[in-house]
Amino acid sequence: MRKRVLVLGSTGSIGTQTLDVLGHLADTHEVVGLSARSSAELLGEQVQAHGVGAVALVDENVAQGWSAAGVRVFAGADGLCQLVRHTEPDIVICGITGAAGLPSTLAAAAAGAVLGLANKESMVLAGPLVKAASAASGGAIVPVDSEHCAVAQCLAATPREAVRRVILTASGGPFRGRTRAQLADVTVAQALKHPSWEMGPRITIDSATLMNKALEVVEACQLFDLPADQVDVVVHPQSVIHSLVEAVDGSMLCQLGPPDMRVPIRYALGHPGRVEGGSRPIDITALSGLTFEAPDREAFPCLALGERVARTGGLSGTILNAANEIAVDAFLAGRLPFLGIADLVEDALDSFTSEATAEPDSLETILALDARVRSHAAARLTASTR
Ligand code: MG
Repeated sequence: MRKRVLVLGSTGSIGTQTLDVLGHLADTHEVVGLSARSSAELLGEQVQAHGVGAVALVDENVAQGWSAAGVRVFAGADGLCQLVRHTEPDIVICGITGAAGLPSTLAAAAAGAVLGLANKESMVLAGPLVKAASAASGGAIVPVDSEHCAVAQCLAATPREAVRRVILTASGGPFRGRTRAQLADVTVAQALKHPSWEMGPRITIDSATLMNKALEVVEACQLFDLPADQVDVVVHPQSVIHSLVEAVDGSMLCQLGPPDMRVPIRYALGHPGRVEGGSRPIDITALSGLTFEAPDREAFPCLALGERVARTGGLSGTILNAANEIAVDAFLAGRLPFLGIADLVEDALDSFTSEATAEPDSLETILALDARVRSHAAARLTASTR
């Protein structure tokens, strides 16, 4: 029996790379469903290429005009969860960016699937809910985030009580080495030029501000049940070592390889084993010249905001992420300077302190706070640009 794979966000960066890997795994894996927000044409090509029987299109207008022979179409945000239940997948690759990916992640966790979790926001907003749903259904959570995939592999070789700390590597983004003053007038085009990884626009801006690493600190605490003071960050511009685990005996374990998201994607598709999936032998001599440096928390204050959230727990991740999504959209639209992103997020964390420590006990609680923080941040933006 081939494994049934559902790819959520199939037209995005993670989705297209997942389908590239799945193209090499046709004997063992079957693509049973795909979803896109509105990229109808590419979705149609993917359905043809992989013989897929069901899709979801989040944009309802696009969904109305889309059809393919023998393909079931689900529409709207709810359509994602309907697609999860309809396809009964063994593996779900959650490649949707942002809080928009949370409901379908939860549906996949409740369905007992292996979650290939590229949607880190699911862990940041609702880690306890996703973990509980997955455990109750007999599913598994496998991070499709290069750092966390590395940590998972290193932790598999280290008894939990022997872990001293987890060290997440960060490329430093396009502005590594700049002072805070030198970041005041950077442009959208400069921020979108990532030196080592090719990714979607949201996460590329998050890499430039180090908010991506901030979210990943919270994600690591949730995924691996670690206290905030056991998760460190080191800047490693070559993006070859994807993260490390330090044990109490002074050993450091790491996972390394070229920066390529298809490696963690293969790890999730192979779980609990390994699949080749089109990978090629690596020339280790091409990976020489590795350097490490401490992050500059003054120039990149988003990192400290993430560490604050990792210490606070509760619903603080929802506040951090919602404000950041508004801030990044505003930066991309030219309505907010680069340094304004961290300011807007910090303002939201300071404005919602009484909500921050409550437990994320339901999807409704999380989405209600998410909406309140978004309106708050949007109002701040309007006030500041008036
Ligand atoms: Mg990552």
